[in-house]
Parts: sequence; structure tokens; C-alpha cells
Amino acid sequence: MPDFKDRLLEIHGSNMWSGYHVNRAIEFARRYDMTGIIFHANDIIDKAIKPDRYFSPNESLLKFNNRDGDTKNYKYYLKNAIDKITDSGLEFYAEVKEIYFAYELLEQMPGLRKENGALCPTDPFWWEFLDAKLEEFASRFPRVSGVIVSAGTRESMVSLADNRCTCERCKGYSMDEWYRRLIETMFLALDRHGMKLIVREFSYTADHQYAMIDAAREISDKIIIAIKKAPHDYYPTFPLNPTAGNCGGLEEWIEFDTWGQYFGLGVMPASVLEDMQERLRYYKAKGADGIMLRTDWERLLNGSSFNSFSMLNLIGGAELAKNVECPVEKIYSKWLEYGLLSPLEEDDTFPQTPSMPKNPNARDILMRFMQDSWRVQEKAIYVRGHVFNRNAQMFDRYFLTYFIMTVQHTRDHWDKGASRLVEPTEENMRAIIDEKDEAVRIAKSMRDYLNPSELGVSADVEKYLYFLLDAYPLYAEIFRAQIISAMYIRRVEVYKDSTYLEKAFSSLDVFPSLAERLGAMVDGHHYTNNVEYVLDKDRILRFKADCERVLEELRKKGEMK
Ligand SMILES: [Zn+2]
Repeated sequence: MPDFKDRLLEIHGSNMWSGYHVNRAIEFARRYDMTGIIFHANDIIDKAIKPDRYFSPNESLLKFNNRDGDTKNYKYYLKNAIDKITDSGLEFYAEVKEIYFAYELLEQMPGLRKENGALCPTDPFWWEFLDAKLEEFASRFPRVSGVIVSAGTRESMVSLADNRCTCERCKGYSMDEWYRRLIETMFLALDRHGMKLIVREFSYTADHQYAMIDAAREISDKIIIAIKKAPHDYYPTFPLNPTAGNCGGLEEWIEFDTWGQYFGLGVMPASVLEDMQERLRYYKAKGADGIMLRTDWERLLNGSSFNSFSMLNLIGGAELAKNVECPVEKIYSKWLEYGLLSPLEEDDTFPQTPSMPKNPNARDILMRFMQDSWRVQEKAIYVRGHVFNRNAQMFDRYFLTYFIMTVQHTRDHWDKGASRLVEPTEENMRAIIDEKDEAVRIAKSMRDYLNPSELGVSADVEKYLYFLLDAYPLYAEIFRAQIISAMYIRRVEVYKDSTYLEKAFSSLDVFPSLAERLGAMVDGHHYTNNVEYVLDKDRILRFKADCERVLEELRKKGEMK
């Protein structure tokens, strides 16, 4: 008996529209005994379903010719993909955000816009629309196993959580009731067709965390709750998600990211295998039944676990879901048996021949490298556990540094008072600089044990490993420099400590040479768009210019006093 009965591979990027990639995902899922594949796109249902109830065939053709053709195209593509997936013995799930719709609906039903131009989320029309859409989707694609939904988040098109409608009904509408209507409408439409509804617990604060679950529980015990591996998002430094085991008996699936939205996007690879094992042990003990493994990200093209060392995390997730006690050494061996892939020059829209290292010590060397890579990231792009990066990118302006650490991705909700640890007190600053020094030291030490030319790997992988031996120390040095400048500026700004003004200015001197080194490493080499995304020298030059602007303003303010 596997430890987790549902083991799903999630495609979240444009890759789901590539037949080649879908075949590769199917092959992987079969080889590693996974049970299904998820296509995750906010509007995936709206791409294929108009619905007919509001767009009759002739009207659709004559009035909305473009969408008419598009939905037809997506119907054929999806049917083909779903057949391939289900014929190979895997389940297919669609993952969406609701309420979503195509803009043609507003032309067809102009009354949906209220006086101030806002959409009214409490208009009963939306429940009717959602029912029509799901009914048609389920009838059209009967081999779908279920729908996974982020209900009413800020990323939906209509949501009471992000409402600008000022009507009387909206004013008095309870948030709990709104969630209940949304989930109930979806559940009933899918359940009629024997399909499952999985509701994602998607919250920004601890208060909102249980509202959705309570709503789901009231509707049916068949609803499944999907929970991220950590509260808020996939940050490996964040605590365990307290929702697990607290879903009132509903089945629970745990979501993981294998590619690395918050740990290097496959370009700066890192192992989250050890983290995954620890968390899965916990979630298994809490009674979770399923695991979802994300392999890419909707906001980046041409990249995924499938062309990077992040394959380690994907293979690891698949293996640990079967047996959480599987020794990690065994998983590293399986990764090497699958073969190494480089994201440097080939994006993942083309096949690469995975390279199996010939050196018998390769496993131990690469295991140490992937574990060290995470240790570098933990200490460089996180600050005492706080998120200090923008989806693996370095900062391009001062504002985002403390905003991301202490507001947008704050850990205070789950770790009370945590953000005090990054305030620029003398003591904290010393500890933080020590942490960054340690990141740089570990990154530099990789050369002591990793000699790419001795691993017996392909020329592509060898080149990539040499690239990483240069890139990792520099990546760490850049984040080190950015937190130092950010802390000094914050010290002047918040603590009004003008003795740090000149220190902050001189902390910026290092950026031109860091940018030059990064530029020499990346620019003009025709590496993939994802390498250029993660390692963009212009961002740190813009960071320097922005910090100077902020400091000049602070200086002026100080002089005026
Ligand atoms: Zn309203």
C-alpha cells in the first residue's frame, strides 16, 4: 500500500499545450507509478467551453468569430490530451480559479457591469453561469476525474474577497455564504457526473484559512481539500501547514513545487528532497491521502523540472509519496539513473538526451552538491527564514526588500513576531551578515569536491556544472550585498540613524563590479530565457540607482530637520 494513494503530476505552464511535453509527462508518471496528471490554468475550462447556454452556435459564430474558433480548437486538443492520459491508465484533473469567464460574456450580458463599472460578485447570475459551464465541461469531457479549484481568491475575475461593487446586496453579503454558494454550485455540477471537487486552501492570512474548509465540510464529505506544503506558499523555510489534519475528516492532498519558484527556478538548482521527506512524514501522520507535484510555473515560458536538476525533486516526490521512508540516497541514485538535464542552452520545448554520470562516485558528489545548493539558497535568498527574493530573481529596487520579507510574504501569521529578526538592529545586522557570509563560503566550497570533468557526464551537463561553480558564489554575493544595503537604508529610514547614511551610500559601491561579473557570465551567450530571468545584471544596476534615489531623499529630509 502506498503511503499516499493519489500521486499527481501538475503542469502549470504553457507546456500543457505541447503534445511533446504531455507525452513526456505521461511517460514519467507511468515510470514512477504516479496516478494522474493535472493541467493547471486559471481559464482552462473557459478556453474550451463558451458555454452554449449563453452563446448559441450561430450567434457565437457570427458575433464572436475568434472565440468560436478558439474554443473549438481547445475542445479537440483537450479531448486528445485527456484520451492519451486516461488511455495510459492515469487520471486527468483540471485545475482552475473561479469565478473566471471570457470577456465576450460581458458583451453578451452587459447588465453584469454595475454603475461604477465593477462586476457584482453576489449577482445570482454567477451561480447559474458556473453551473452551466461545469455541466457542459463534464458532459463534453466525461473522462475527467475531477476539478481542483482556487475559490474566490484575488486572482479570480469575480470574487467577494476583492470586490469593488457598491450595491446594497454586496454590502450585506457574508463571505462564508459566498464561498458556500461557489463551492456548492461546483460540487453539485461535478458530482452529477461522478467527478471529484478538490478545493484549494489558498489564503494569505491565518484568519482566512478555515473559512473555505468550513464551507466545504458543510456541503459534502466527498470534497477533498488541497493544502500547500507550507502556509501561504511553497517556501521551504516556512513552518508546516497547520491546516493539515484539521479539515474535519475531509480527504487532504498536499501540494509541492518541484521546479523551484522560490528556490532557483531550476536554473540555480537545489534539493528540497530532504525537506519534502520531513514534511511528508508529518502530513502522512496527519492523515493526508494525496500529493500534487508541480513541475513548472504559469508565469514562465519554456522551463520546467523536465530540463533541469529539479528532476531530483520530482522523482523524490513520486518515490516518497509511495514510501515516505525511502532513503534519500536511493532517490539520488534514481535521479542519476534517469539522467541529468541542463537548462543552460536547451529550453524544455525540445528533447534532450539525459546524461547518466559514469563516475561511480558521482552520486555522492552530486548529492552533496544539491544539498549544499539548498544550504546556499537558504542563507542567501532567505533572511533568517524570511523570503528575500522575487521568484528567485534578485531585487531591482529597495522597496521590495522589506516589503516581501515582512509584508507580502510575512511569516508573522504562522511564526509570531518573526519579522523582528530582520529589523536592522546592530545585533540582527551582525547575525544576518554572518548568515550571508556562510552562504558565500558554502558556495565557494563546492569547488573543493566537485570537478565536473571527472563525473563522466555529457559535454552539456559538464558545461552547466562549471557554470554553476561560478554562478553560485556570485548569486550568494549579490544577495549578500542587497540585504546589507537594504538594512542600512532601513536603519536610516526607520530608526532615523543618520550615522548609517554614508555607510549605506558606500555599501552600493560593490554593485557595478557584481553586475559586470554577472553580465560576463550570462550576456551574449544565448542561454535560455529562464537563465536570463534568474541572472539579470540590469536588475542589480537598477537596484543601485533606486537605493541612491531613496538615500538622497532621506538625506534631504534629514537636512531639513
Ligand atoms: Zn454587488
